[in-house]
Amino acid sequence: MTATEEHEQIIYVQGMDCADCARTVEKGVRGLAGVEGCSVHIATGRLRVTGRVSREEVARCVRALGYTVAAEPDESGAAGVRAPTQEGTFWQFLWQRPATRLALLGGLLIVPGLVFDELLGIKHPLIDLASIGALLAAGLPIARSAWQALVYSRLITINVLMTIAAVGAVMIGATTEAGMVMVLFALGEALEGYTASRARASIHSLMQVMPTSATLLRRASAACTCGDGCCTTAPAAQSVPIESLQVGDVILVRPGEQIPVDGRVIAGESAVNQAPITGESSLVEKLVGDEVFASSINGQGALDVAVSQLAQDSTISRLIRMVEEAQEQRAPTQRFIDQFAQYYTPAVVLLAALIATIPPLLLGQPFWNAADGTPGWFYRALTLLVVACPCALVISTPVSIISAISSAARNGVLIKGGAYLETLSRVRTMAFDKTGTLTTGKPSVIRVRSATCTDDAPEETCTACNDLLALAGSLEQRSDHPLAHAIVVASQQRGLQDRYPAAEDVTALVGSGVRGRVGGQQVILGSHRYFDAAILHSPQVCAEVHQDAAAGYTPVLVGADGSYLGTITLADTPRASSSAALAQLKQAGIEHLVMLTGDNDGTAQRIGTEVGLTEVYADLLPDEKVQAVHRLKQRGRVAMVGDGINDAPALAAADVSIAIGGQAGGTAQAMETADIVMMRDDLRLLPFAIRLSHATMRTIHSNVVVALGLKLAFLVLVLLGLGTMWMAVVADMGASLLVSLYGMHLLAWGRPERVTMY
Ligand code: ADP
Ligand code: MG
Repeated sequence: MTATEEHEQIIYVQGMDCADCARTVEKGVRGLAGVEGCSVHIATGRLRVTGRVSREEVARCVRALGYTVAAEPDESGAAGVRAPTQEGTFWQFLWQRPATRLALLGGLLIVPGLVFDELLGIKHPLIDLASIGALLAAGLPIARSAWQALVYSRLITINVLMTIAAVGAVMIGATTEAGMVMVLFALGEALEGYTASRARASIHSLMQVMPTSATLLRRASAACTCGDGCCTTAPAAQSVPIESLQVGDVILVRPGEQIPVDGRVIAGESAVNQAPITGESSLVEKLVGDEVFASSINGQGALDVAVSQLAQDSTISRLIRMVEEAQEQRAPTQRFIDQFAQYYTPAVVLLAALIATIPPLLLGQPFWNAADGTPGWFYRALTLLVVACPCALVISTPVSIISAISSAARNGVLIKGGAYLETLSRVRTMAFDKTGTLTTGKPSVIRVRSATCTDDAPEETCTACNDLLALAGSLEQRSDHPLAHAIVVASQQRGLQDRYPAAEDVTALVGSGVRGRVGGQQVILGSHRYFDAAILHSPQVCAEVHQDAAAGYTPVLVGADGSYLGTITLADTPRASSSAALAQLKQAGIEHLVMLTGDNDGTAQRIGTEVGLTEVYADLLPDEKVQAVHRLKQRGRVAMVGDGINDAPALAAADVSIAIGGQAGGTAQAMETADIVMMRDDLRLLPFAIRLSHATMRTIHSNVVVALGLKLAFLVLVLLGLGTMWMAVVADMGASLLVSLYGMHLLAWGRPERVTMY
């Protein structure tokens, strides 16, 4: 088979309410000829198929298994990213689907049986008839999927348990109970499907109503390479669909409008609300040259924006896509539970068969119910089937995780999978990169000192010092390090940017400095540590540099053709949010707060004390940062926090990597590299994420305990002959509802409004 014939298809399946359904579809589709890989996610309804198989064949198989295939999502989604989700109330949800509509009908028919037969003890053939009607209405769809799963996917699902139980109950004349079991089970399943879809739909509130059209001012000319709106063709203000926008087109965003695509402001200024992405609704000032993001709401000023991303690649589209994919990633706990359910269901059928046969055969116990209503072992076995339904157990974890990931995203934290949430909850050590993470990452030059500086002239007018800055600026133009940016800005402020030609052959000495050729000279900028090893400088320079470092500044040494030229001193201030965030992290149970930096020890220690770190490791080269992370891992789980730009190896070495986005250009890269991304540069999102992870794990654990506890309690009741079948269904559905709702409370985490169910 050639590579072109192999492809991945995504199909959205509707009507799956329980993890069992997902498993049925997965196994069924995998059995098709040509299919190589297949995965189904219950929460998103997304079915991924790889291999040589047509979409129609897959769709036919899905339908044969009793589910429906949703319309192509791209036709309805403006930015082509959303999965179809059911909106509306529970009643609307029930009414939309034939199977659940039948279950509602069954609910009506079962009322006489419940009132007269079960509660008042009055028997009448008409009542039995109504109950049988209820049984058929609610039960036939269930029996049908039980059969389909059995035949096509060779799976014993919960539906099988329920169908056997109902048929058995009819055999012993308990028609009302049989009807009740099916009605309650069908409604309960629907309720589960509904809660899952609600939890999933909440992520779409991020997009709210994304505009589908934009006001186009100018088209990018076909030859445009800058993508910055400068080579655009003549004005032609018109409304166009956002899908038709090309990179470099210029659009108009009027006051109060929602920005439709990612881009750069080329005219106008305004304050915009970026809450859908950053989770914070305070206004951010946007000037010419600033980036704006699709889905932000424009404030008072009109903006001309040069499109920088196609609509489907905008930050918000990618964010939502990543959140959806994250919701599909099963956390280890969930994987365990799914695995467990797979063996558990057939085991229960076997156990029930043993319970029905062993006591009557070996101990002479009654098989049928006694005349006075004392349940026989057949009835107990049937009840066991109902009790054993693992719905509550299976649903508890995904709902909690989806809810947590959604609510994190709405607050500006992108968590790329349940597994990371689980790891995060176990983190004991958090390691931070310094520049751009603990500090603002916007250092500024505070002193320029050439080796040949004539001490008496003020620095700005000293030719030698200005020359040093100009030379450094020319080299740093080609570097993306935060320090480099500061040096370039300082050089521009003194009007020195044209003194030297642009640097050539520029190489970053990662973690040490940068090297390149400027007009025939080999120029090097770097840390004191690097200069100690590479370029001779006087003890007096060392002393001065140490003094700067002790004061908390970052000295950058400059050399050319092997000799020392001077030092540029920069200051980088800790972020305002750093110390508060670190204090909250300690409160949230993170024991070790560690700084890993390539900067000098003096600056590192000073900033470390200022923000409240417990340990500081300075003068580290990138691979030494990696080793430091490995050493920290010996004390427990380590989260590494960085800007995702120049600390990728250390991020990768940690158990879970966290990138702080929010800086220009940083977010896009951070979104790709890290496990968890802070969509705005506020360190207080870290304690938020930690607390959310703790809450999620607590929720999952208590849900598992409740679900299993209830099962065990009922199991005992059944074996003692005390539990009835319909009580068992009520208990299971109650437990499912309880754990789902409890899982969904995580949706409301970090925001005041409540999630409404009805
Ligand atoms: P951090 O760990 O704080 O993020 P880095 O590892 O990126 O720092 O860099 C360590 C040190 O190397 C800096 O403090 C600086 O002295 C030097 N350095 C690195 N890149 C540059 C550059 N482009 N220009 C000047 N100095 C640099
Ligand atoms: Mg860094």
